[in-house]
Amino acid sequence: MNTFACTCLSICLAAAAAVMTPALAQQRPASAGPADPQLIEDLIAANRILAMQGVVDAMGHVSVRHNRDPNRYLMSLARAPELVTEADIMEYDLDSNPVRDPGRRQYSERYIHGEIYKLRPDVFAVVHAHTPSVVPFTVSRVPLRAIAHSGGFLAEGLPTFEIREAGGMTDMLVSNAAFGRALAEKLGDKPAILLRGHGMAVTGKSLPYVVGRSIYLGVAAKLQAEAIALGGAITYLDPEEGRKIEARRDYIRPWELWKRHAMGK
Ligand SMILES: [Zn+2]
Repeated sequence: MNTFACTCLSICLAAAAAVMTPALAQQRPASAGPADPQLIEDLIAANRILAMQGVVDAMGHVSVRHNRDPNRYLMSLARAPELVTEADIMEYDLDSNPVRDPGRRQYSERYIHGEIYKLRPDVFAVVHAHTPSVVPFTVSRVPLRAIAHSGGFLAEGLPTFEIREAGGMTDMLVSNAAFGRALAEKLGDKPAILLRGHGMAVTGKSLPYVVGRSIYLGVAAKLQAEAIALGGAITYLDPEEGRKIEARRDYIRPWELWKRHAMGK
């Protein structure tokens, strides 16, 4: 009796597993394995730096591609960036499905990250933020342009994502793959994109790059508004100047300082 029950149970479990495995595999992508601890530390630092520099407040997020697999990325669960710790870091596939713990609270706009990674193999880190100095330029006919050296990466101009073109009247959040895809297509090969009435998404080849660009995008918006307030004609950076600046750009020096302030070491 016990043997029969045991055998029956085994068969039933095996049958159930055979039926469930494809569905589970779809819901739970495989993990790429443990990420480089240095990358995790830098991701935590990036979260804190963005908060300390006023790029994000309780909202906004930063991600980085997994060092073991370009088809996975790492990002915190839904938490204010300043509070993010190692235990909060989640791993996602490029459809923005978590590889484990799907019950944890997740950023509803994580599709911005996954869809940009799909279309831009050169991008290794992404920031989404609602930086106050930038938002007016997402709704104004005055384009955001570089007036200072630190804004060299935006000298060629940035596209603006109009979510009404992708979804009509929405709550304006990029909260599904279709909206994320539309945003990534509008981004094209540019370093960043403005989101009308919402904020910005910024890309970089590393965490220091994306953090540096995000900080200086906010600075550029502030400087331009101040230059406009002075009145008179403004001399903007020429796109060629921007390209020459970017060819030599790195954020090594500021990253060391920002990280030290953020991590207390
Ligand atoms: Zn947002």
